[in-house]
Amino acid sequence: MTHEPTEIAPLRSPATVAVTAGRPPRVQGGPVNPPVVLSSTYVSAGVPGGELLYARGGTETWEPFEEALATLEGGAHGVVFGSGMAAIAATLGDVPDGGAVVVPRHAYQVTLGYLDDLTRRHGLEVRRVDIADTDQVVTALDGADLLMAESPTNPMLEVADLPAILAAARERGVPTVVDNTFATPLGQRPLELGADVVVHSVTKYLAGHSDVVLGAVVTNDDETAARIRAYRTLHGAIAGPMEVFLALRGLRTLHLRVERAAANAAELASRLAGHAAVAEVRHPSLPSDPGHERAAQQMSSFGAVVGLRPVGGLEAADSVVDAVRLWVPATSLGGVESTLERRRRFTTESTTVPEDLIRLSVGIEDVEDLWADLAQALGSRGA
Ligand SMILES: *Cc1c(COP(=O)(O)O)cnc(C)c1O
Repeated sequence: MTHEPTEIAPLRSPATVAVTAGRPPRVQGGPVNPPVVLSSTYVSAGVPGGELLYARGGTETWEPFEEALATLEGGAHGVVFGSGMAAIAATLGDVPDGGAVVVPRHAYQVTLGYLDDLTRRHGLEVRRVDIADTDQVVTALDGADLLMAESPTNPMLEVADLPAILAAARERGVPTVVDNTFATPLGQRPLELGADVVVHSVTKYLAGHSDVVLGAVVTNDDETAARIRAYRTLHGAIAGPMEVFLALRGLRTLHLRVERAAANAAELASRLAGHAAVAEVRHPSLPSDPGHERAAQQMSSFGAVVGLRPVGGLEAADSVVDAVRLWVPATSLGGVESTLERRRRFTTESTTVPEDLIRLSVGIEDVEDLWADLAQALGSRGA
């Protein structure tokens, strides 16, 4: 009853890849998409080989997601992890004790926290740089063991000149990792820009529905992929099959969600830029944004995270977050729903992030409804 899968031309647009990648073979009566399989152990084959054995090492639910994400990133290998932090930790696994890592001073705060932990336990030297300042990054790369880049940065939305800094790292033999969580592979493909490894918090846009915590690593290098997989098996920060099933289901609509969220974000950023109660807006779509030119060169979508500083400082920022009704005051980002938070409410956030910076994660709701709610929240403080 089976027939050969219909031969399809090499996969084309990212939208088509998002919908089709990782599908099971076309079998009559079989499922269209990969089913979730809950099993910790597998019946042994007569001859040991590459078969599934035990679910910490691999499951049939991981593979289709890994394949789909790797294809979207233009990479040969995807490796899913139990969280974005687990994926980031795995990419740092080869840095020697006492080694040096170059990182944006405004990287994701838990990435910075983990690096500080490695400093305490393993003497790691952390070189925090302004990732938008190419000369500063290149200088810091001398004698470094890894560049852990982020662009745009979380939460400051600084844009690195990725082709330039990745090339400089390559010339100096420094391996590179790019955290592509904010841009998603539909907005930016770091492997094509020269990165060795891409990491994701799958929790955010890729899964997209604020219901799972997951991470992933993508690379073209066979040896790196093997090391990262071995690290995952040894350290055990694995993903549950149910979460990965949900992530692939979310990935199927990534192109629609990113397109709508980014369009909403650009529209809101431009309206906010003209609002009397707004002191500063950051979004790479704004022609006035310091990262605009670079982002236009290296990104195909400006993303859907916006930085906002209202007139009136910290108190004004808190009252805006307090006054919204449609927007949800919450941390995290990349879900279908619009959320916002003042980042410095976390005492662990970098002190060079302004106290009054509100990070908006723009969702896929109607843009007029989102604007009306933001405008009333800004207006509620008597601006
Ligand atoms: C959320 C986030 C992470 C961490 O991912 P988790 O899935 O929460 O572990 C890493 N990098 C960036 C840019 C993030 O936004």
